Amino acid sequence: MQTLTIIKPDAVAGGKAGKVLAHLEAAGFVVRAARMTRLSRAQAEAFYEVHKGRPFFDSLCTFMTSGPCIPMVLERADAVAHLRKAIGATDPAQAEPGTIRKLFAESKERNAIHASDSEDNAKREIGFFFAESELKGNWA
Ligand code: ATP
Ligand code: MG
Repeated sequence: MQTLTIIKPDAVAGGKAGKVLAHLEAAGFVVRAARMTRLSRAQAEAFYEVHKGRPFFDSLCTFMTSGPCIPMVLERADAVAHLRKAIGATDPAQAEPGTIRKLFAESKERNAIHASDSEDNAKREIGFFFAESELKGNWA
C-alpha cells in the first residue's frame, strides 16, 4: 500500500530532511517517488483545501510556500496508518516520544512532516504531486 508524505519547509530549511528520511526508512517505508519543489500559493491552497475557512489556513499556506518541501510516495504494509503513527500528533507537544514530530517539529504549524490521513486522501494526494508514469517507471 502507498501513502503520501511531505517533508515540510521547516524541516528542509533546518537541515533535517535526511534525518526525517532515515527515520521513515527505519520504520519500514520504501520511497517509490520523491521530488523537491516549492509550492505556489495556489498549490498550497488546493492541497489543504479541506482546511479552507479554518483560522490557521492563511498562515499554513504562507508556511507551506516559504521554501522548498519534499513530497514523497512511501510504500509498506498498512502504509497510511503506520505513517500517521510514525509522525505523531499534529502538535509536537502532544506527540508520543520517538515520533517524527516529537523529534523534529518546531511547533503545531511548523511540524516537519505531512501524512495522508486515509486511503482515499492518499490516492488524491499522490495524484496531486506525481504522474502515474513516475510511479510505475522507476520500479518496473
Ligand atoms: P498534515 O495534514 O499536515 O499531515 P495533520 O493531519 O496532523 O497534518 P491537520 O489538522 O490536517 O493536521 O492540519 C494540517 C496542518 O495545518 C498541520 O499539520 C499544521 O501544519 C497546521 N495546523 C493545524 N492546526 C493548526 C493550529 N491550530 N495552529 C496552527 N497550525 C495548525
Ligand atoms: Mg491532515
